[in-house]
Amino acid sequence: MRAQPPASHFIDGTYRHDDTAPARPDLYPYDGSVIAEIREATEAEIDAAFEAAVAAQKIWGAMAPVERGRVLRRAADLLRERNAALSELETLDTGKPIQETLVADAASGADALEFFGGIAATLNGEMIPLGEDWVYTRREPLGVCVGIGAWNYPIQIACWKAAPALAAGNAMIFKPSEETPLSALKLAEILIEAGAPPGVFNVVQGAGRVGAALVSDPRCAKVSLTGSVPTGRKVYAAAAEGIRHVTMELGGKSPLIVFEDADIENAVSAAINANFYSSGQICSNGTRVYVHKSIHDAFAERLVARVANARLGDPLDPETTIGPMVSETQRDKVLAMIEKGKSEGAALLCGGTSEGPFVAPTVFAGVTDGMSIARDEIFGPVLSLFSFEDEDEVVNRANNTDFGLAAGLFTRDLTRAHRVVARLQAGTCWINTYNLTPVESPFGGNKLSGVGRENARAALDHYTQTKSVYVCMGDTEAPF
Ligand code: NAD
Repeated sequence: MRAQPPASHFIDGTYRHDDTAPARPDLYPYDGSVIAEIREATEAEIDAAFEAAVAAQKIWGAMAPVERGRVLRRAADLLRERNAALSELETLDTGKPIQETLVADAASGADALEFFGGIAATLNGEMIPLGEDWVYTRREPLGVCVGIGAWNYPIQIACWKAAPALAAGNAMIFKPSEETPLSALKLAEILIEAGAPPGVFNVVQGAGRVGAALVSDPRCAKVSLTGSVPTGRKVYAAAAEGIRHVTMELGGKSPLIVFEDADIENAVSAAINANFYSSGQICSNGTRVYVHKSIHDAFAERLVARVANARLGDPLDPETTIGPMVSETQRDKVLAMIEKGKSEGAALLCGGTSEGPFVAPTVFAGVTDGMSIARDEIFGPVLSLFSFEDEDEVVNRANNTDFGLAAGLFTRDLTRAHRVVARLQAGTCWINTYNLTPVESPFGGNKLSGVGRENARAALDHYTQTKSVYVCMGDTEAPF
């Protein structure tokens, strides 16, 4: 097996697993070969992870923030040094093209560790004067945080959760998606090498049962989930039972609006990035592309011509631009949505076909707002084109969705750009580009797309609690 780790879990600084626990084969999506066999965490292992995390958090939380930051920045350097190997591992686990994983996965994880390592020591409270008396506030860690990941950006998701959590002095137990269990283990190794005390970052494997056990454990202070809305509902409800903090990074059905004065070639590039990168398996994708009626046909023609240049193939081949879907289940879901698109009357401009684990980049035109492909998250390489006539109309249609993760627009009109962005119901908006998510910028959703924010200084608010300390400088009076 090409990527077998020493054991399935990483708890208290070491690899371990119970040989009698059920095992699941981990597949390379391109050829279905088994690259590792991963065992599900047992109750005893989940308990051991919490014990280790509780003990380690006391040490880690008491360290000077600048020291914690140094560990995270060292980990960032190690991630970058090992980018080639980590990218290959991520490609084997997800099936994403190596030309993507080399620049977007461990690299963006390293950015998060560097950023939060850099600002760890700036996490200050306030001093609030009250005449002679005064109040000061302390930004304290929450304790043990649980991170639960999706399969599309495994190491990025692990880092986006671990970096702010650890910077603020928390410990973390991370459960990767059962589809992509491998790279989080590498992150755990790297954090130990960088100097994190054992137990500060633990990885346990398994599917929903293990995730649910982590979230309902009384030692869990917070859960940060990246996943679908149905899972989000379950995890949020379980967290509510124990009044735990939550961050929910859920699904999307985001609009990309192309006004009549847009640079068409740039807008087509954005539509391609917004729908076909990672075979469309990206939460913030702009899958509803609204193009002004006057340029709709020209846009569609250029889009279809450029999509013909996509290269489907072995994801480890540096020339490949479209890899397989992560699993047969996901491929079948996407193909079922394509069939719905056809049967509900959308016009297939290109794609719509599948060979083995691949789904060809697919463009539908003539899509109307009520069709299933216009309303439901597909999480695959399927772009829907809509035509619109005026600004008010397109803003209303763009917002007419239960989701609110992201939105983008193309125009050369400066005032229109900002006017429209202000009206779009989405956590992240792009003007004249799409899907750039630098760590410096807060990321998260409105409406069903989630609560809380990852990245940027904003993420630290979601991994700390404020303690107010009233300091009395004089005598204390009482009525009797
Ligand atoms: P999923 O909801 O099936 O699973 C997500 C994670 O939750 C997995 O680790 C899974 O094992 C775990 N899980 C499942 N049931 C659970 C339960 N009852 N309790 C605790 N944990 C449980 O999602 P997926 O198929 O892995 O990922 C695709 C989805 O993730 C899409 O909807 C996509 O939009 C979303 N996503 C969102 C973001 C974001 O940042 N907003 C990023 C990537 C993916």
